[in-house]
Amino acid sequence: MTARVLITGGAGFIGARLARRLLAGGEHVTVLDDLSAGSLDALPAGPGLEVLVGDVRDAEAVHRASARVDLIFHLASVVGVDAVTADPGRTGDVIREGTEAVLRAALDRGCPLVFFSSSEVTDGPRRGPREVYARAKRDAESLVLGQAHVPVTVVRPFNVVGAGQSARGGAVLPTLAGAARRGEDLLVHGDGHQTRTFLHVEDLLDATTAFVRGQRAAGSQREVVEVGDTRPVAIGEVAERLARLAGRGARVRRGAGSTAREDRPRRLPDLTALCAHVDFRPRHALDPILRDVLVGA
Ligand code: NAD
Repeated sequence: MTARVLITGGAGFIGARLARRLLAGGEHVTVLDDLSAGSLDALPAGPGLEVLVGDVRDAEAVHRASARVDLIFHLASVVGVDAVTADPGRTGDVIREGTEAVLRAALDRGCPLVFFSSSEVTDGPRRGPREVYARAKRDAESLVLGQAHVPVTVVRPFNVVGAGQSARGGAVLPTLAGAARRGEDLLVHGDGHQTRTFLHVEDLLDATTAFVRGQRAAGSQREVVEVGDTRPVAIGEVAERLARLAGRGARVRRGAGSTAREDRPRRLPDLTALCAHVDFRPRHALDPILRDVLVGA
């Protein structure tokens, strides 16, 4: 796409995959990450990659990291229910102040910005820490969309999964996969009929990069795009399949713990914007996704 790309949060689950594919395509990549959740191990060694360990709220660090870049992907964020609950104040700050610093750099450099928001902005207001995350992402969206000087793409991913995703933030699939790998009980909240959709990270990146290309070709300055799978599966079914695929004799235990964490609206992406620029067909079906998650668990 371009010659030099900055990825904030580039040592994280999605960011490191993005870095790998851009490097493989011959682009130069600068990663800015404070390693609060990400790891340098996720990134390939070799030429073309520069890593700066720093905080995205630090405007000076972002300014340095964005030197000579043609495009910025802004992914740095506190992510996951557990991480957000542990520090709601930092969550809001990192998202709002970080996006402010990144937008300033994009404006200074005159380069396009791709901001990773979240499907959670599409939920109605809720109480509790999740709302802190959603509200901060909504504010950040308004901020980047509220200027008219550089092209902006706001990406709202819906439940993205794949090898390398940490269970640390409380993500459901890595947590279940870890238990399946260890041969431990897979604890499913409630009756297991609650559904989710899962999109493989490579399908997210295929769609996002194709969309950004399409947006550029169309000369569009501002786009908001939802990206996700539209085929819901029950969590109980996912757990059964993981236990079977792992082959370690793990059993699924339903009704474990509180259902409060699972009690959220069934969310499906609106793919209208995506399909205006992209012929979107996720390559990964559920079992290949689960096998991939098991490899990394
Ligand atoms: P992740 O936690 O693996 O990656 C986030 C990265 O940001 C980590 O490497 C972390 O160290 C870094 N980071 C956190 N605070 C920072 C700070 N102050 N300064 C610099 N770096 C900081 O999460 P991910 O799943 O790769 O998510 C990437 C982006 O996609 C996030 O913006 C997230 O909100 C969004 N998103 C992800 C999903 C999903 O399903 N994974 C869904 C919706 C939105």
